[in-house]
Amino acid sequence: RKRDDVDVEKLQEAVDQLDTKAKYASFNDLPLSEPTKAGLKSAAYSTLTDIQSKAISLALKGADILGAAKTGSGKTLAFLIPVLENLYRAQCIGPDAGLGAMIITPTRELAIQIFEVMRKVGGKGHLFAAGLVIGGKSLREEQDALTRMNIVVCTPGRILQHLSQTALFNVDNLRMLVLDEADRILDMGFQRDVDAIVDYLPRERQTMLFSATQTKRVSDLARLSLNEPEYVSVHEAA
Ligand code: ADP
Ligand code: MG
Repeated sequence: RKRDDVDVEKLQEAVDQLDTKAKYASFNDLPLSEPTKAGLKSAAYSTLTDIQSKAISLALKGADILGAAKTGSGKTLAFLIPVLENLYRAQCIGPDAGLGAMIITPTRELAIQIFEVMRKVGGKGHLFAAGLVIGGKSLREEQDALTRMNIVVCTPGRILQHLSQTALFNVDNLRMLVLDEADRILDMGFQRDVDAIVDYLPRERQTMLFSATQTKRVSDLARLSLNEPEYVSVHEAA
């Protein structure tokens, strides 16, 4: 067997044994791949924020997550680390693996920010093909890039355009969906787009929904897109 296979097997065993009720303070205490560890180290991330501590161990084990924590609490890594790790352990890497994860966020600016964090943390040895689909390029250019991506960070309207118009855009291998800033997605009127996107995706998948506020509309969206989610929230001290 290849060395990679052995590493992935060991990592999977460690994830299986992970105690999701424990409070993890340091990224070193979590079973993470070498490239992710190297990325966290070079970005100087060492201790987990509260939402990361609550969400990451559950998400590594494949749970659907409904997460709420105010802006600035570190939600990006709370979903990016599980995306990188779960795809890595599934070896969903390279042009033949197909699109493994879709991260939807309401604005182009937020998509670019997420992409930058992914580059910072995932760019130290991970071999995923990741890309942005946020408009601004021709549909055709985005289309070509999409056929090679393992991870896409996108805005709802644009990715829906590809799903509905690009016959070659195959999402059969998609195993993870992230809805970031779900409250803003809804505020901006993207509810129907998100519903339509979810209809295109495999039902057998892991979904993580994060928002800064918990509203009825967010929980309605969660009911439609998540499967028996774990609720993780961090409240501000009064
Ligand atoms: P949110 O999405 O909840 O608004 P972000 O993910 O954008 O929050 O993170 C907010 C800030 O906190 C960013 O500058 C990020 O680099 C920093 N940050 C996130 N996680 C950590 C961590 N574990 N240790 C130190 N800084 C962190
Ligand atoms: Mg955020």
